[in-house]
Amino acid sequence: MAIIIDENECIGCETCVELCPDVFEMNEETEKAVVKVPNSDLDCVDEAIDSCPSEAISRE
Ligand code: SF4
Repeated sequence: MAIIIDENECIGCETCVELCPDVFEMNEETEKAVVKVPNSDLDCVDEAIDSCPSEAISRE
């Protein structure tokens, strides 16, 4: 189950980075979030998925 971010949906709000800095970080150039640890099973990943305002984060 890989964590993925749909860059077209991400609005760069940084909520996922605040909730789960071990897994998500901002790409300063694109101002979109990126996944550092796609196979992470930390609980904060689910929090970030639930909290993302544009539902850009999912698992595949
Ligand atoms: S919470 Fe969603 S919209 Fe906000 S930065 Fe993360 S992926 Fe992008």
